[in-house]
Amino acid sequence: MNDWKAVIGLEIHVQLKTKLKLFSPAPSSFNDEPNKSIHPCCTGLPGALPKLSKEPIDLAIRLGIALQSKIDSTIRFDRKSYFYPDSPRNFQITQFFHPILLGGSIDIPINGKEKTIRIRDVHLEDDTAMLKHLPGMTGIDFNRAGIALLELVTEPEIETPEEAAIFVSELKLLLEYLEISDCDMEKGHLRIDANLSVRKANEPLRQKCEIKNLNSMSILAKALRMEMDRQIQFYERHPEQNVQSPISSSTFRWDGCLKKLVLMRKKDTALDYRYFPEPDLPVYSISSELIEHIKLNMPELPTERRRRIAEKYCLHAEASRVLVTDSENFRFFEEASKTCSHFQQLANWIIVEFPGQLGLPIYQSEIKPIQVSELVNLISNKTLSGKNAKSVAARMITTGLNPSEILREDPSLGLSHNETELENLILFTLESNPNSISDYKNGKERALNFLVGKVMASYKQADPELVRQLLLERITC
Ligand code: ADP
Ligand code: MG
Repeated sequence: MNDWKAVIGLEIHVQLKTKLKLFSPAPSSFNDEPNKSIHPCCTGLPGALPKLSKEPIDLAIRLGIALQSKIDSTIRFDRKSYFYPDSPRNFQITQFFHPILLGGSIDIPINGKEKTIRIRDVHLEDDTAMLKHLPGMTGIDFNRAGIALLELVTEPEIETPEEAAIFVSELKLLLEYLEISDCDMEKGHLRIDANLSVRKANEPLRQKCEIKNLNSMSILAKALRMEMDRQIQFYERHPEQNVQSPISSSTFRWDGCLKKLVLMRKKDTALDYRYFPEPDLPVYSISSELIEHIKLNMPELPTERRRRIAEKYCLHAEASRVLVTDSENFRFFEEASKTCSHFQQLANWIIVEFPGQLGLPIYQSEIKPIQVSELVNLISNKTLSGKNAKSVAARMITTGLNPSEILREDPSLGLSHNETELENLILFTLESNPNSISDYKNGKERALNFLVGKVMASYKQADPELVRQLLLERITC
């Protein structure tokens, strides 16, 4: 069973964040009262002609630059004919013959390394209306009809269901960085269809099945795992079936209530969409000036940020993951890092300690980056112990004061560097606990902790590291 490998290719619909719909001046806000954000073009009224909006093109180009795709210099649309009540025109306007973007790739993080997944193409199309199932009836809401979508198709190079989920998270992050979609999966801004086949090492590709309606990362991985097991079991039960006599290609959909895959159709009933060039739209051209202009305004991309964090700040994997996924935290961190070079500690205070005490992300609080860098600097130069730093942080939250001001108000929070006083206390502690010394010499590590605890109990401002070091020096001399 273990020598089977999955082959996965994804087709992802991305709803673009544009003011207007793709071919009409109606607003792209489908959460309004039903059938309000519409224009005759969205409902397919006879005589209503489509007119291409500019913004979706700009966003598609932005994605093309990020993916390093070939951006078509002309934009052409095609008509895909089918009947369904959510599309009364009986066709969708899409790009079947000439997708706006060809090729390109996304580097996804897999176990601390990067893996490149190639993109086959990305095309523009308009969304359908939404069927709303109400008690005893089904209504149609045309607010969504005509909103601009990008459909991104990957090459079949994803190797596990988990990798498919990572790919989708990485794409989502990229789209968020590029600010081209809100990416709310619950609202259907990202809709995933997955194709999966299995094969043994070095075999050619086998027949794939398609799964529609995968609207969360966890469902995606789960449904693909189920389909993978089903295909493996099929081939194991029918060893006579070789690559040339494949399992029948089918389309399933994920049923959220049944929590399983439900068969929609087999290949022999596959639809013929009668694609042909859309006669109601001209061919548009994209100027190289427009592409250059968009290139000049590109933000930093997730992969670039991940590499920069690794090279410049050398952070642990988890801190790096949080800072790549949460841009606000990253901005806070970068600002604080201008005045503090203990990056890992700084990241820790920003993404773990302060949010833990605050109950919200640090950037939503009154705490300033410079105050956190000051706190970390005080710990690093041994003015503050890690333990007292937590109390100082708590006071920063309640008073808004800087750590140095808090220490000035309450010097007992700081570490003391009075070594003679400490030396005397250490000698006294050792003299009063001879058993602990012999315990330690006999290999009991814990005896040293006990002695550190004793010293600290009488001298709360001592630096525990220094106490440990001085005790060891005395015991071993
Ligand atoms: P179709 O002709 O059925 O539309 P395509 O070749 O257009 O198939 O590919 C659609 C999607 O299926 C792409 O994402 C592609 O990567 C994926 N795909 C193609 N062949 C396979 C296969 N044998 N196994 C898994 N995925 C595949
Ligand atoms: Mg296809």
